[in-house]
Amino acid sequence: MGQVADIIRERQVGSIITYVVNRNINFTNICIKNCLFCAYSVDFNSKDGYFDISSDYFRRKIEENHPYRITEVCIQGGIHPELKFESYLEILDNLKEIDPNIHIHAFSPQEVAHAANTSKEDVEDILREFKKVGLGSLPGTAAEILDDNIRSIICPNKISSAEWVHIIELAHQLKIPTTATILFGHIEDYHHWISHLSLLKQIQEKTSGFTEFIPLPFIAGNTQLKKNFSFHLNKLTGLDYIKFYSVSRLFLGDVFKNIQTSWVKLGFPLAQITLTAGCNDFGGTLFEENITRSAGGSFGQGITPEEFQTSIRQIHRPFCERGTLYNLFETNNFIKD
Ligand code: SF4
Repeated sequence: MGQVADIIRERQVGSIITYVVNRNINFTNICIKNCLFCAYSVDFNSKDGYFDISSDYFRRKIEENHPYRITEVCIQGGIHPELKFESYLEILDNLKEIDPNIHIHAFSPQEVAHAANTSKEDVEDILREFKKVGLGSLPGTAAEILDDNIRSIICPNKISSAEWVHIIELAHQLKIPTTATILFGHIEDYHHWISHLSLLKQIQEKTSGFTEFIPLPFIAGNTQLKKNFSFHLNKLTGLDYIKFYSVSRLFLGDVFKNIQTSWVKLGFPLAQITLTAGCNDFGGTLFEENITRSAGGSFGQGITPEEFQTSIRQIHRPFCERGTLYNLFETNNFIKD
């Protein structure tokens, strides 16, 4: 299956493996949603909680600890009870002030829904406002499994499947591209995978607004889902993961040119294998990954562009740095002037 997916990948998108030099910033870990698969969020009163949307905070995060030219910031946070629509606008304003050229990839459909709930405007107007002040694209997270029975168990307080689809389709209509994701390998069954992929395919056929598909394996580690459902959890092997990425290429590749592996969830060796079994994109440098690490992930918080390049050379493939929307850069764009 991997070999066939690799051949199809070559036909559909060629041999170059891409990556993006980005910075991940999670501005709060305080969240009222209590998703059972999430080990990152804490309650409002927790001593471990943090919340900072100041310009200083974002500047520090963008500039600290590395010499690279970042082309994208990926901004997501918990649903803090005091976050309002205006707070999200403030975040975008602050980021644009720090670097007007940086691509802002921010706010999951859950965050967009929350922004709308805290204002008098509907989702469409919220998205328009976000775009006007600099939002470049939306992460297609909060999709988990687009099946309300599964959602009622793993994330009962989140937006429904229909709301996720509605927000994504509105974004695409407004020419705000999004990614598409799935969180797989917990309590779902094979048929949920197929219906999830079919739904994404239908949306993409209609809008062409997805930039890539990113399968995300569930890391059980410290999650409530593991505590409550340990006997019922799917126990996927490395081989199952590779099959999932291959199936993604075979099933979606004619409309999703880009299938992204996840080095954060899989680690480098397994991620390299998925890049020879259907995937064509390595994802981002991140520089500060918190969500998977909180759940027990142990593959690091960030990597450098050079590490991406070494890893791609090891599997004898060409590489190229890309922007968020898959525009290719001259090699070594990431070196600061
Ligand atoms: S997954 Fe997101 S919405 Fe759910 S608890 Fe974690 S931070 Fe909150």
